[in-house]
Amino acid sequence: MTTHAVALVWFRRDLRLTDNPALQHALEHARHIVPVYVHAPEEEAPWQAGAASRWWLHHSLAALDGSLRKHGSRLVLRQDSSTAALLALAKQTGATLVCCNALYEPATLKRDALVRRALDAKGIELAALHGNVLVPPERVKTAGGTPYRVFTPFLRALQKEAARIEKLSKAPRKIPSTTQWPDGIELARLELIPLIAWDTGIAAAWKPGEATALQRVRQFERRAIHGYIEGRDQPGIDGTSRLSPHLHFGEVGPRQVYVALSSGSAQSEVQRKKFLSELGWREFAHHLLYHYPHTPEQPLDARFARIRWSRDKRRLEAWQRGRTGIPIVDAGMRELWRTGWMHNRVRMIVASLLTKNLHIDWRVGARWFWDTLVDADLANNTLGWQWVAGCGADAAPYFRIFNPVLQSQRFDTDGDYIRRHVPELARLPTRWLHEPWAAPPDALRTAGLVLGRDYPLPIVDLKLSREEALRSYRAALEPKRQRKG
Ligand code: FAD
Repeated sequence: MTTHAVALVWFRRDLRLTDNPALQHALEHARHIVPVYVHAPEEEAPWQAGAASRWWLHHSLAALDGSLRKHGSRLVLRQDSSTAALLALAKQTGATLVCCNALYEPATLKRDALVRRALDAKGIELAALHGNVLVPPERVKTAGGTPYRVFTPFLRALQKEAARIEKLSKAPRKIPSTTQWPDGIELARLELIPLIAWDTGIAAAWKPGEATALQRVRQFERRAIHGYIEGRDQPGIDGTSRLSPHLHFGEVGPRQVYVALSSGSAQSEVQRKKFLSELGWREFAHHLLYHYPHTPEQPLDARFARIRWSRDKRRLEAWQRGRTGIPIVDAGMRELWRTGWMHNRVRMIVASLLTKNLHIDWRVGARWFWDTLVDADLANNTLGWQWVAGCGADAAPYFRIFNPVLQSQRFDTDGDYIRRHVPELARLPTRWLHEPWAAPPDALRTAGLVLGRDYPLPIVDLKLSREEALRSYRAALEPKRQRKG
């Protein structure tokens, strides 16, 4: 085993000390460790972190620095190109080893290849471990050696690989530091948090950092998992783990979540299985993005590139601001704006309304999510939007279009979610809450509500726009048949 005097641990989206393969590797192969974070957002272009993600990153870096200090170390922050920063730090500290956990997006893969070449040229070793996914995306293949495009067989193959997960590593008791700390910049200099305080709702909803992430896993394992199948589709209750931003920033690794939820009581087995399959969707998303790197910009199914989308700015803005006049959609978009997160069922409903009723390009919606979600993740976001638009791998068929009123009645039956996020409708009887435009005048009067004044009338006719979407999808997918017809 080679021993290096000094190793840099290059933290990226693995902002934790527990079960962090890069940190573990450095501890095993070097006598002194220098933890580093390089802020180089342009290297992730065109998908550099949005505003909500930057907020999270700021607090997560502060939390990581705090835990490193408790372990006798600290986080060195640099703002430069990754190559320049790492080379400079290696020179200053005498490091001959750089350890990181691999990322699989097109921009980060390209960047990491450049870094590897530059370090190589100086005789510095780059060790890229796997800590951000359960199984590296290149390892899961069909019998024919091709990538999977259908979820169920992918999940089966993934589970076989995941069963081989070895023991997790604990957080080290101490991180051997260097005698000479290289200089770094202050976190505030990265300007990740807003000057105007639009983040109060986000700050009230979330606490970034490894300690909270681990606590959330424990809480979920104790409580919500027992009713996950029934609860996961109800946006009005706390029925899911809300681990997505913690997983995105690697404050907890997928292996830790997988192992924690793999065992438990026999009664919870079916629930745990369902949860692990959702974690499997995250793996599937990373697998797809790795094998089809064009998909954040182009539909996986190329036939969908022919669809003509609307550029109606007024409608787009109504959707973004939660002013469409369709309560479940407005509740979701307002939850997103205020807290930086939206329930999965509602993500599907709002995405469906944007693409199938407002006929606005899924990429426009994906961009809005990208800027406003604290869990914005290129792989998951691309998969989610292409799934709803019907143009991705194993997606919903294009003719299956969500009816937001029926969805609302089914999944927010008592209207708790709508009332929480659209308070102007709170006094409306539940019967009309899902479609206030259908309420009789006296119900509106009693609720003190004038539609068009206190709450918008629907900006779109759900039935007509659905038919229009079907025509437009059909025209794109079956151009020959259309011409003949
Ligand atoms: P849980 O139900 O507790 O699931 C546990 C974990 O499994 C999640 O944290 C997540 O990492 C993973 N997971 C669950 N469902 C999915 C899914 N459908 N696809 C991929 N991974 C999943 N998720 C993101 O993390 N980032 C995004 O940018 C994102 N954009 C989305 C856009 C659209 C249009 C849609 C429909 C879904 C999107 N999702 C995204 C997936 C999903 O909505 C969230 O992962 C989930 O709501 C997070 O809540 P949770 O942690 O409580 O989930």
